[in-house]
Amino acid sequence: MHELSIAASLIEIAEDAAREAGAGRVRALRVRVGALSGVVIEALEFVYAAAAEGTLCEGARLEIEAVPARVRCRVCTYEAVMEGVGPFICESCGAPGPEVVGGRDLELVTMEVDEHEAANS
Ligand SMILES: [Zn+2]
Repeated sequence: MHELSIAASLIEIAEDAAREAGAGRVRALRVRVGALSGVVIEALEFVYAAAAEGTLCEGARLEIEAVPARVRCRVCTYEAVMEGVGPFICESCGAPGPEVVGGRDLELVTMEVDEHEAANS
């Protein structure tokens, strides 16, 4: 279950950013997860709460933005959302083997922090 290490590293990034911003607590994390990132969203949600325990992210909301896989035809540059798993054939010209142009994302997009607590501590 590599989602646990992914959750841990997202939390680490958020904690660093929160400290840098002088924030006392992270209230929400917004994470972009691509269909081709290899991350199972349900699994990430499942392990997140435990991974966040004892960190600045404890109790923070985890918002996941699922990004579909996108492919672009190498022949006619037609772009489409890839459904399911390959092999994929271009809907426009029928050429096989398109280039993957999106869906590998795995990143922290934004976060919400509580700045008041930092001022008091
Ligand atoms: Zn094509």
